[in-house]
Amino acid sequence: MIPPEFDYTRVSSVDEAVKALGEGGEDAKLLAGGHSLLPLMKLRLAAPSLLIDIGRVEGLRGIERSNGGFKIGALTRHADLQTADELGVIAKAAGLIADQQVRNRGTIGGSLAHGDPASDLPGVVLALDGELSATGPNGERTIPAADMFQDYLTTALEPDEVLTSITVPDPGEWSFGYEKFIRRAEDWAMVGVAALLKVEDGSVSDVRVGLTHMGSTPLRATAVEDALRGGSADREAFAAAAEHAADGTEPPGDLNATAEYKQHLARVLTRRALSTAAGI
Ligand SMILES: Cc1cc2nc3c(=O)[nH]c(=O)nc-3n(C[C@H](O)[C@H](O)[C@H](O)COP(=O)(O)OP(=O)(O)OC[C@H]3O[C@@H](n4cnc5c(N)ncnc54)[C@H](O)[C@@H]3O)c2cc1C
Repeated sequence: MIPPEFDYTRVSSVDEAVKALGEGGEDAKLLAGGHSLLPLMKLRLAAPSLLIDIGRVEGLRGIERSNGGFKIGALTRHADLQTADELGVIAKAAGLIADQQVRNRGTIGGSLAHGDPASDLPGVVLALDGELSATGPNGERTIPAADMFQDYLTTALEPDEVLTSITVPDPGEWSFGYEKFIRRAEDWAMVGVAALLKVEDGSVSDVRVGLTHMGSTPLRATAVEDALRGGSADREAFAAAAEHAADGTEPPGDLNATAEYKQHLARVLTRRALSTAAGI
């Protein structure tokens, strides 16, 4: 439980962080809440030579209205999100992350940059079609959530980029259901499902379904979405569409569940999340 030796520096701006990343080279890592990186270091699965602490960089923490949606600073903690009712499904999912101690330290930026497919917020931001802003030596760029998650613990962020904010369309425009199946209280998701729904005159005008821990990255259940869009918003339609929740997925089997069991969970949880979203 003792990490390998490392150097530590604290920066006070995004520019300083980018500079320190450039100077530190490949083995330099940003430190936000530390609740993914430090456990990896203690298990000796990561051994950065330099930690660049961005925890006190001004202007990276908070939630503000932006272009009809919300802009969430990368250092906004899970605890800030869980009480932000205006964030709908994001608040709900954040409140189910681990325990209050983890939520008091962990940040949305750290969660998305880490790219763990078992984390709750990546699948939710993917379902919302969010966009991520990152700053590197060549300035700022926007990464659609659909392009962000590339493989297990691998994202579109360059090693010398700082994720600064996440922009999402107003989650309040969607009714939602969020289902997280866990074996023990406060555990990581065996499987998680975020369902977003818009219903007009009894039919589904739009729908999004994000899956957690059903592959090496968070996924959209596009077959479910296609089956529902334009159809009836009733229990039978949800049950039939949810049968497609695991189509094309290859979830990793682990100590908690086989791949087949996770696929079964995805179908059941999708049906439940859709019903919750529709209030039926
Ligand atoms: C016991 C325990 C249980 C947990 N259970 C859950 C759970 O159920 N669900 C869940 O979703 N998560 C869970 N987590 C993870 C937790 O949510 C983490 O806090 C979060 O995933 C990472 O955020 P962080 O701020 O701690 O990031 P850090 O650990 O500081 O960083 C993680 C990685 O992201 C990089 N990084 C951080 N911020 C940025 C940035 N702004 N720009 C670029 N790169 C950045 C770091 O360099 C590092 O590689 C758990 C953690 C613990 C310790």
